[in-house]
Amino acid sequence: MSKIEFKTAKPGQWLGLLGGGQLGRMFCMAAQSMGYRVLVLDPVANGPAGSVADDQVLADYMDDQGLAKLAQRCIGVTTEFENVPALALDTLSKSIPVSPSAFSVGIAQNRIEEKAYISGCGVPVAPHVAIRSKADITDTLSDLMPGIVKTARLGYDGKGQVRVKTLDEVRKAFADLNEVECVLEKRLTLQKEMSVIVARDHKGECATFPVAENHHRKGILATTIVPARIDDAMAAQARSNAIAIAGALDYVGVLCVEFFVVDELGLVVNEIAPRPHNSGHYSIDACVTCQFEQQARVLAGLPLGDTRQHSPAVMVNLLGDLWYSEEGMEREPAWEKVLAIPEVKLHLYGKEQARVGRKMGHITVIAETLDRALTVAQEVRDILG
Ligand code: ADP
Ligand code: MG
Repeated sequence: MSKIEFKTAKPGQWLGLLGGGQLGRMFCMAAQSMGYRVLVLDPVANGPAGSVADDQVLADYMDDQGLAKLAQRCIGVTTEFENVPALALDTLSKSIPVSPSAFSVGIAQNRIEEKAYISGCGVPVAPHVAIRSKADITDTLSDLMPGIVKTARLGYDGKGQVRVKTLDEVRKAFADLNEVECVLEKRLTLQKEMSVIVARDHKGECATFPVAENHHRKGILATTIVPARIDDAMAAQARSNAIAIAGALDYVGVLCVEFFVVDELGLVVNEIAPRPHNSGHYSIDACVTCQFEQQARVLAGLPLGDTRQHSPAVMVNLLGDLWYSEEGMEREPAWEKVLAIPEVKLHLYGKEQARVGRKMGHITVIAETLDRALTVAQEVRDILG
């Protein structure tokens, strides 16, 4: 873990960022609006973050010279990409503050360790077992059927997951996944999916954002509704669980905790992401301080901002699918029509190529009431098709 102390950065100083996607882009914008400069390390040129950053190091995450450039110029480094090698963060942490630490990122990168860590702090997770070899697939696992086999590493947006009903299907799934380390989880009947974003600074102060209710389509987040339609006790429980997990990890930075609400089990944690999260994008338009500003504040050694939500919000993800007609012809979505609705805020990530399933942007509907926001979100979907 980083022993290097966080110091308060002055406007004009450089903040470093590993990764160049949309989360990095929105981090750049938030940091720049407070007067900081951002240096992005990304192996790809003109990415969503690189194209708005003040400067970019075009290098691989494990490139020693690239990392050294970051360490020389920046007062601290953060990440936007959860599969950034923990080793790169470890190397950087020898000379500058790193948020979050290599340790926290390492835990979140492996579903087996992640689940062990979370249940270790007294927070329930879905019933599961680790599958490291064929021999781990025994008859006792029939209690976990129907289930989901998930690769322990490198899964996102539902990738690296296979739904199974029998132990033979588990064996087949494990073989199809090239026998990499996996977890087999019981498939739960989800009443709701929710998430909490928590920021924790180097002094251990925490601030959680309001609980977000998430709806997925084909394993990808489609819509986030905030505040989540749950009772106050459950919301308080979710927020305090998120703080407990951040505290146990001695986490410094922005962390997302994804929850399931399950009939028999109540609130269980699905997974954590050691960075701002798609389900927190609503905070840009709906909260006093957004998740990206919070990330910049932690890195710059500043006090955490107020996470108060000033308007109900519904966030709708804009996937590349919208750039194609039903016949598969390329088209430009009808922005002028959705922007004619007063409650609509549009965010596009500057990606050149639209692909099916690719996150191209999002819309946040900011309305007087949640009901109105939900109605407008449906209008937006109808317009964009
Ligand atoms: P990813 O890393 O791809 O986000 P998740 O573990 O969050 O992977 O799974 C993606 C989605 O699949 C979840 O948001 C949820 O809708 C569904 N899912 C995952 N695990 C379970 C489970 N144990 N029971 C029921 N649904 C699940
Ligand atoms: Mg997930």
